[in-house]
Amino acid sequence: MERHRIPPYPENFSIWYAYVNGRNPELTAAIEEILRAGKRFSPEINDTLYERFAAFTPDKAELREVGQRVEEAVGRMLDYLSHASQGTSNYGAALENFSGCLSTNDPTPGQINEAVAAILTETRTMTDLNRQLERRLASSGREIRQLRDALDSLQREASTDALTQLANRKTFDSVITQAIRDADYTGRPLCLVMVDVDHFKSFNDTYGHPLGDQILKLIGRSLVETIQSKDTAARYGGEEFALILPETDLEAAIVIADDIRLRVAGRRVTNRRTGETLGQVTLSAGVAQFVAGETITSLVHRADEALYLAKREGRNQVRSERELAPDRI
Ligand code: GH3
Ligand code: MG
Ligand code: MG
Repeated sequence: MERHRIPPYPENFSIWYAYVNGRNPELTAAIEEILRAGKRFSPEINDTLYERFAAFTPDKAELREVGQRVEEAVGRMLDYLSHASQGTSNYGAALENFSGCLSTNDPTPGQINEAVAAILTETRTMTDLNRQLERRLASSGREIRQLRDALDSLQREASTDALTQLANRKTFDSVITQAIRDADYTGRPLCLVMVDVDHFKSFNDTYGHPLGDQILKLIGRSLVETIQSKDTAARYGGEEFALILPETDLEAAIVIADDIRLRVAGRRVTNRRTGETLGQVTLSAGVAQFVAGETITSLVHRADEALYLAKREGRNQVRSERELAPDRI
């Protein structure tokens, strides 16, 4: 870490510890690729690695606890049910006894009385058991519903970026993998848009990181407001976002990206605390359309190249792969 000038923060330690022990081949490959490309481990790269590989691995202890509680609740339910079936078979035996008594020739009133009393007792026991069972099943049902909610929220947390509430990098990876599989299978178009905030470093330097964070949230909302439910907006890295647009061709994707660009640029950002106008925040975006058989890396690469083109040509604009020089594709 010292060699690569990586600050000794706990997040960075967890990444490099995992790299050294080599148990996560994807992480190892990602780091080796950065090393091979001779890139610097900038704060953004470190953050992205953490987001992608270490942030919120839903706490193992937490998961184990939920799992254990589910097991206990199910175990209790099975117990109640086996109790209940024991009760039913006792009842069945009592009924059989009764009918046996009636079918013997000339039962005495005493015998009938005894048999009826036995049936009454068994019926009461059975009713009590049933009530108990109902109560217990209802409470187990409640408990299981609570556990399901707990699991849902763990899963949501694990797949969402905490600041913007968009899909996080891990979710991006799995959604794009599936989207590519679908597009390969159906032959329907699929587009990827990479979005990057313009001059965000100087925004942070001027107004401070917390306000920068608010901007990222606002951009997150603008993305979500523009896309449809079949689409995915993800926080790809620090101030970079990605849109996965299934069933969308290049032209349509460019229109969507430009909508978002205009929407964000059209907002006059003010500091709510001081009332100060912070001016305009702009975005650049690059759009690429999936080509059957290609890898995620090559699709992301083309969208990135288009994004760099937008940056080079002056920012606050959308460029697509169609405008790239052949050697950049
Ligand atoms: P460009 O137009 O070329 O993209 O310029 P830029 O300044 O946006 O690019 P650069 O990659 O140099 O800087 C990105 C900045 O984004 C630096 C970093 O402080 C900021 N950033 C990354 N993640 C966050 C975050 O979570 N919150 C805040 N406030 N800033 C962030
Ligand atoms: Mg950037
Ligand atoms: Mg930027």
